[in-house]
Amino acid sequence: MNNEAKILQDSHGRNHNYLRISLTERCNLRCTYCMPAAGVPLSPKSHLMTYEEVYDIAKTFVKHGVTKIRLTGGEPLVRKDFPVILEKLASLPVELSITSNAVIIDRFIDVLKTHGVKNINVSLDSLNREKFTHITRRNQFDKVYNNILQLINEGFNVKVNAVLVKGFNNDEIIDFINFTKDLPISVRFIEFMPFDGNKWDVSKMVSYAEIMKYVNDSFPKNSVIRLQDTPNDTSKNYKIKGYKGSFAIISSVTNPFCDSCNRLRLTANGQLKNCLFSSTESDLLTTLRTGKSIDQVIKKAVFAKLKVRGGMDTLNKLQKPHLHSKNRSMITIGG
Ligand code: SAM
Repeated sequence: MNNEAKILQDSHGRNHNYLRISLTERCNLRCTYCMPAAGVPLSPKSHLMTYEEVYDIAKTFVKHGVTKIRLTGGEPLVRKDFPVILEKLASLPVELSITSNAVIIDRFIDVLKTHGVKNINVSLDSLNREKFTHITRRNQFDKVYNNILQLINEGFNVKVNAVLVKGFNNDEIIDFINFTKDLPISVRFIEFMPFDGNKWDVSKMVSYAEIMKYVNDSFPKNSVIRLQDTPNDTSKNYKIKGYKGSFAIISSVTNPFCDSCNRLRLTANGQLKNCLFSSTESDLLTTLRTGKSIDQVIKKAVFAKLKVRGGMDTLNKLQKPHLHSKNRSMITIGG
């Protein structure tokens, strides 16, 4: 490995080739587990990366070994210059993907195709219209559902992300798995994670073990098949025998995948987070704006990455995040 690639290696020997860029702190949904009811204070526009700055920072990461970039937010598609950003990033030798709530994604099908985006993660926490409206505080279920079907028809690889919250949507696990019966999609159940202002508590979380017990009890013996996970996969993948699609569990709380973590996050206001749970951030945007090289700031930030979940290595610490760490709301980190 050359010296440049080493910039993205941390003190635990992990190499980082995957950058998630949040394009905006704004969203057209108001998911209860993602942001407080009162909303979040938004950064002034002048503190947000312009499309040129997104490109300049991304280019530096690609130079040092990043091969995958995922665009997220907030809702990345509400950013007016999204097509321009995509076009600029598509000129880099990198695999581009996007995480979206899909409310308006039908307007971007051509743009996504033109710039080679194939993998799209869509958040959908309920297959029930009323529950969807309750959790997102917006009445957009039909748009999202139809857009998922359209994305599949258009040939995109679609993963559906569902955050499970006990007493709310854990009764839909089987419905979600049956959603994969005739559709070539992967439904991924995400363990509910604590972030600033989201009223997390461990009793609301549905764990990997609980999900699998429920699945194994609900389907005939030997019909639940464990699939091979890909390298650096954050999810444990399964399918039901004979189903077109598959399902997976992202167990960031009970079974973190930090050992193989290859991810870094850039917030919409240009801060590098070396972990979703990290309490520290490194200001790439100000460095870039003062005309200095951001390489050393990146190197220092990556090297300092803690071994497990931004230092919250035990469930006990995770249960009281405010005592151990200071973090943002998920909406301003970029999930
Ligand atoms: N607007 C886009 C979307 O809805 O997919 C991208 C941003 S959203 C913050 C990215 C992902 O973070 C979504 O899949 C969402 O479910 C997940 N997420 C947000 N808060 C979470 C939490 N507390 N625990 C687990 N996942 C969370």
